Amino acid sequence: MRLIFLGPPGVGKGTQAKRICEHYNIIHLSTGDILRGEMAAKTEIGEKAKSFMDKGALVPDDVLLGMMNNRLKKDDAQNGYLLDGFPRTIPQAGGLINIMDDLSHSLNCALSLTADEDGLVQRLIKRGKASGRSDDTPDIIRQRQNVYWKQTAPLLDFYRKKNLLKEVDGIGEIPEITDRILEVLK
Ligand code: AMP
Repeated sequence: MRLIFLGPPGVGKGTQAKRICEHYNIIHLSTGDILRGEMAAKTEIGEKAKSFMDKGALVPDDVLLGMMNNRLKKDDAQNGYLLDGFPRTIPQAGGLINIMDDLSHSLNCALSLTADEDGLVQRLIKRGKASGRSDDTPDIIRQRQNVYWKQTAPLLDFYRKKNLLKEVDGIGEIPEITDRILEVLK
């Protein structure tokens, strides 16, 4: 099973991704988590990413594509994966097609979790207080929502046209949403 999770910041992609990965026994690749790890380790990628992430802007496509090209080649990715937070732009989606073609991987589904924006901002402000994530402050949260609607939402049409898009309502109890997702993936 190879999946992409799409949805605005705060919709619960990370939480659902973990549950879906357990169900299918596939790996969860969150580019936000990978980039935060690179930043903490002060690698070259981490140093490049930091200024973009702190502003709530997207890290350049070539950085993401190089990083994911390496990551998807690894042994643990050969049984399947869920991509959480990648691709985020049309050029990244195009690049991902090439990466997957080279590995003879096919995509099963791009799953979009949906929710209204005001609820999401409140949820993220709470998360920021709890986790201390430096990009979960109200201004940066708004900025990240804007980036999603401008740069990432066009991917919905991109995958819809390929007949790969499934949309799931992301509002409700965590187990209930997981059930909805598993139902559309059947
Ligand atoms: P996330 O944890 O998915 O909300 O990502 C946190 C931040 O990491 C984003 O605001 C971006 O700065 C950066 N990031 C994560 N994934 C990508 C991506 N696919 N393309 C560009 N930037 C990304």
